[in-house]
Amino acid sequence: MEKKSPIGIIGAMEVEVNSIIAKLSGEESDSIAGLLFHRGELEGVPVVVAECGPGKVNSAVCAQIMILKYSPRLIINTGVAGGVGVKIGDLVAAECCVQHDFDTTAMGDPLGTLFLRRGGDSEDILKLPCDSGAREVLLEEARSIYGGAHAGVIATGDIFVADKEKNRWLGEKFGARAVEMEGGSIAQVCYMNKVPCAVLRAISDSANDDSPVDFPSFAKETAEKSAELLIRAVRKL
Ligand code: SAH
Repeated sequence: MEKKSPIGIIGAMEVEVNSIIAKLSGEESDSIAGLLFHRGELEGVPVVVAECGPGKVNSAVCAQIMILKYSPRLIINTGVAGGVGVKIGDLVAAECCVQHDFDTTAMGDPLGTLFLRRGGDSEDILKLPCDSGAREVLLEEARSIYGGAHAGVIATGDIFVADKEKNRWLGEKFGARAVEMEGGSIAQVCYMNKVPCAVLRAISDSANDDSPVDFPSFAKETAEKSAELLIRAVRKL
């Protein structure tokens, strides 16, 4: 894909994309399916930025529209997540994403296995790939401004996890380092469309009993930390 096609940036919540939209030059927007797609240049790089709303369906619809309408060369999902063995304020760049709540285990399938269609064929997939080049750029930038970031599995599902047993299970079952509600669906849409994707999250809470208090306390600061890293890295992506 040519360098001048935009980078797509998706965040679920306003606080995850506000600081990015505020930095766009030549900003124009389109409204599609109730979602606002902000086009412009970020640090001189063409981008399209959208707030998709929480959850897998909202984020999948947003990613698919972005791909069909703007042909992005890369889609990056930025935002906050619950930590699995990592601390509030830490950053996690996805090695891959899984959908922890997709469950046909009663039929003997491994938990999280997705069933995709490929022309007349079908394909089963559990680990949704993320682009290694984009991840390395984000990790390198994180090293220079925040002293580093984790790389690991990000687990996605339509549930706000606030339960230490579920947290432990996510680590054991999937090797997850973070849990959130959009990365795995965006990665699925990107995979189906052969568009590279990256998922970058800052930890807003520890996905445990404290999360209902920690999330509102830390979401803004941590969402902006993830966005700031993306802004600093965008010219290298
Ligand atoms: N009513 C809320 C819904 C937020 S849901 C609102 O819009 O303000 C939490 C969001 O933060 C999701 O987008 C999810 O991706 C992320 N997130 C942060 N901590 C999480 C956790 N512990 N479990 C799942 N998602 C989490």
